[in-house]
Amino acid sequence: MRNKRRVATALGIDFNLHHLSAGETTDSVLELVARLNASPGVDAILVQLPLPVLIDPARVIEAVDPGKDADGFHPLNIGRLAEGRPGLALPGTPAGCMELLRHYAVPVSGARAVVIGRSTIVGRPMALLLVNANATVTICHSRTVDLPGICREADILVVAAGRPGMVDSTYVKPGACVIDVGTTLVEGKLCGDVDFDSVRQVAGHLSPVPGGVGPMTIAMLMRNTLALARARRVITD
Ligand code: NAP
Repeated sequence: MRNKRRVATALGIDFNLHHLSAGETTDSVLELVARLNASPGVDAILVQLPLPVLIDPARVIEAVDPGKDADGFHPLNIGRLAEGRPGLALPGTPAGCMELLRHYAVPVSGARAVVIGRSTIVGRPMALLLVNANATVTICHSRTVDLPGICREADILVVAAGRPGMVDSTYVKPGACVIDVGTTLVEGKLCGDVDFDSVRQVAGHLSPVPGGVGPMTIAMLMRNTLALARARRVITD
């Protein structure tokens, strides 16, 4: 959240953090979201996950006005993404991965892509963005049989399992593009899901942790915020 505030402030975005206190309930958070939805001065709302255990994240995310959904996690916006006609705000981390592919001119159309992880915030929207960009996509998870074999088929391998160092060179086709989404604190150090030193021997492209997908996620959140703000002004001006 510190980095999001820092980047937003540097860009001239008015950033307001609403801290949840210990006694907060789903209903009290829903009231806050309703106030922010109704406020003409608010262009974008981000629900920082995970929420405290007593608060239902699905109800909170669903309560956000889809037109102020900075994360693109509202079911309406995820549904639009699934239909192949995405709204203005795309889920930040997967959008950041797509931007990395675009920036480094990695061919996506027709490529074989494998995503490890099927969470609603990373794995699933990642797969949707890739398939919308005409990749042939396989989603893997903890029950996948022969994970290394499936990963070795990938021209693009996106790893979002939250298992530090689990992907080594035996998972990677020579020349493949490997995007490491994982971020786990191990003895105070931020670790990715990819064994960097092993995979760099075979991969054509490899994103580092830290300094890879993380900053891209924040950049995409800012892009979403700008797009939502512009859209609201077009409607109200
Ligand atoms: P999550 O909700 O815990 O989902 C993890 C996914 O990985 C699940 O689908 C799980 O399968 C799968 N998985 C776990 N262990 C596996 C294994 N051994 N083999 C195959 N699949 C396995 O996590 P998340 O929220 O998607 O986040 C994933 C990672 O990305 C975390 O390290 C998180 O901190 C990081 N992250 C980074 C950013 C960033 O900006 N850089 C943003 C978001 C998340 P099942 O569904 O079968 O359980």
